[in-house]
Amino acid sequence: MIHITNLNKSFGDIHVLKGINEHIKKGEVVVIIGPSGSGKSTFLRCLNLLEEPTSGDIVFEGVSIMGKTNDINKQREKMGMVFQQFNLFPHMTVLENITLAPIKVKKIEKAEAEKIAFRLLKRIGLFDKANSYPNQLSGGQKQRIAIARALAMSPDVMLFDEPTSALDPEMVGEVLDVMKELAAEGMTMVVVTHEMGFAREVATRVLFMDEGKIVEEASPQEIFENPKHPRTKDFLGKVL
Ligand code: ADP
Ligand code: MG
Repeated sequence: MIHITNLNKSFGDIHVLKGINEHIKKGEVVVIIGPSGSGKSTFLRCLNLLEEPTSGDIVFEGVSIMGKTNDINKQREKMGMVFQQFNLFPHMTVLENITLAPIKVKKIEKAEAEKIAFRLLKRIGLFDKANSYPNQLSGGQKQRIAIARALAMSPDVMLFDEPTSALDPEMVGEVLDVMKELAAEGMTMVVVTHEMGFAREVATRVLFMDEGKIVEEASPQEIFENPKHPRTKDFLGKVL
């Protein structure tokens, strides 16, 4: 689904991503772990061109997202993204947040978009919040809405950047549960997280990033029980 070849990203003089090569297959749940500042967010943001790679190539569903003539907006529709800080539109209700892009971007009829939104709200247990505003919701509820909003576009892949890092501990579980369900349904997911329990349970593959490189990648069992690289051992020694 996504082929990344020799991806480099610099911000001015700072070389953040240093020649990343990676293939993400349909149905995989790839969890990215690694220390703060290692380039995890930058990597994820390059996948949908929220950051423009300095060099290298990213091919998504057979089409280079860096091709000058292709329509990145069309490709972005197929990639849902969920951020640490929810990024809901504060002046819009939950229903409006979820239906905005389907109506504006996909040109879906309002009634149909609302039907999809209600189905998603039911699924995440927030059917009764359709007319609430984001500031009337808990952090966990906001993040579940942000996930529903991304799903409303029927993406082929979901990108998560530390989706539970801004939550109070008691709300982490409800968000991870929604993500686990998505994974069980076969959604292709790339997840940056510090939730090692989630990684162990749900990941098909874990990538360990350090200083702009993927230093080690393996099954969760392999990486947690038998890490090979000293940097991986050191990192896991601190977080587990
Ligand atoms: P992580 O998500 O692993 O914590 P990031 O991808 O956010 O790491 O950041 C990697 C490095 O890139 C850091 O040194 C950070 O300061 C730098 N960086 C990220 N975004 C920018 C930016 N927009 N401008 C300049 N430097 C940036
Ligand atoms: Mg980050």
